[in-house]
Amino acid sequence: MLKVLKYPDDFLRKKAREVEDFKNPDLPRLVSDMVKTMEAEKGIGLAAPQVGSDLRICVVRVDDTVHTLINPKIKSSSRKKEIFEEGCLSFPGKFFPVERPIKVKIKARDLSGEKIKIKANGLLARVLQHEIDHLDGILVIDRAIK
Ligand SMILES: [Zn+2]
Repeated sequence: MLKVLKYPDDFLRKKAREVEDFKNPDLPRLVSDMVKTMEAEKGIGLAAPQVGSDLRICVVRVDDTVHTLINPKIKSSSRKKEIFEEGCLSFPGKFFPVERPIKVKIKARDLSGEKIKIKANGLLARVLQHEIDHLDGILVIDRAIK
């Protein structure tokens, strides 16, 4: 289990760096610890900076499917947006209304370095956008509707 950093920890504002070495033996360990931590904390997404790693990695669990995304990039987003209350493990017990595109297409790498593409909508699209924000030091309070 990893410790989840809470706002206003400075590390949450750091821009994470791309994973370049997919043979690094610490990588699978980090991902599996992130998944365990996300599940233990009853979260549906967790980004590496939230557990003190500066790598561009996030894990998401929606509809009983765990997605591991390394170096994710949003390739396109729908023009249509919606507002939804978002929680975050770094802001325990709090929810913020955030407007986001309802559909996104994402490119990433999996643990072995293979390219993956995800077409997401609804909750999955929202969680992925939230987690990718974390990799750039962007937090839910930055996007919350005032
Ligand atoms: Zn979050």
